[in-house]
Amino acid sequence: RDPLLSVRDLQVAFPTEDGLVRAVNGLSYDVYPGRTLAVVGESGSGKSVSTMAVMGLHDPKRTRMSGSIVLDGRELVGASQAQFRKIRGNVASMIFQDAQSSLHPYKRVGDQIVEAYRVHHRVSKGKAMARAVEMLDRVGIPNPRKRAEQYPFEFSGGMRQRAMIALGLVNDPKLLIADEPTTALDVTVQAQILDLLKDLQDEFGSAIILITHDLAVVAEVAHDTLVMYAGRGVERGATHAVLADPRHPYTRGLLGSVPSISETIGEELTPIQGAPPSLTNLPPGCSFNPRCEFAQAVPHDRCLTEIPGLTPPPGTEGRLVRCHLADLGLTPEEALPAREE
Ligand code: SF4
Ligand code: MG
Repeated sequence: RDPLLSVRDLQVAFPTEDGLVRAVNGLSYDVYPGRTLAVVGESGSGKSVSTMAVMGLHDPKRTRMSGSIVLDGRELVGASQAQFRKIRGNVASMIFQDAQSSLHPYKRVGDQIVEAYRVHHRVSKGKAMARAVEMLDRVGIPNPRKRAEQYPFEFSGGMRQRAMIALGLVNDPKLLIADEPTTALDVTVQAQILDLLKDLQDEFGSAIILITHDLAVVAEVAHDTLVMYAGRGVERGATHAVLADPRHPYTRGLLGSVPSISETIGEELTPIQGAPPSLTNLPPGCSFNPRCEFAQAVPHDRCLTEIPGLTPPPGTEGRLVRCHLADLGLTPEEALPAREE
């Protein structure tokens, strides 16, 4: 099957008074219809910036962008705002952590969905309202007709999130980008929203990009996983394989900082020491080298001088890792430096 979205060697940078902020530094991935790709990484890893580029949500005057983003057959790097307006909310939609930021506080929920629908459909207000009520019903909001008349503040947090999903899906987008959609919710509501996204995906066959730092969420809903660090993809592959047998030192560190998951893979992993690098001043070589306990296992200082390419690690399928260890045909275990006890 062809990917719905193909990102190739994407670079996004913002000139600032403190220098050029290199937010995305050569990112490649594919998203397939009916599948969910989790994009994982610490804050500042480029997860949000790279997906906002897909939506055309950056300020073109303040952004330098290169590479390629092909969505549903259209090249979006260099696309005009008019072209993005045709796509946004229609071919691709984005929902955020905080429904408050996407829902207008002083407009009735139904009217907001009506407006979003009528941007892309020439229909009467009455027809659009029928569609809005149908969408509120689909996302599991009780009394949708009455709810459509209400303002966002009359909704609970979980119901607001559902309303935002209804707004995001009203035009049947082929791609839904969900940026930390459940982070602000309690665990029960979070599980309900994730179930809802799964059901809607089964029903509509849409592709989902799920941006999250929560590996339990990833394990629950994502078919594929992309791990980002300092604006690059450092590991990608099928979620179960990446979580069970991580091959990039950073992925291992991320998993190590989640007790429940490191238990399930039966290993004790140390949480990652240190902080991500400054995006105005990336270290030479592998961006992860200041924090990497494996850097010394790679000969000739390559970790300090040479940016690793994406390589399939030995003994894996459909996996790509950006690490010199994989280049050398080594697993992290084989390279594990002697640790002081
Ligand atoms: Fe660590 Fe070197 Fe691999 Fe980077 S390339 S993750 S520094 S071993
Ligand atoms: Mg973010």
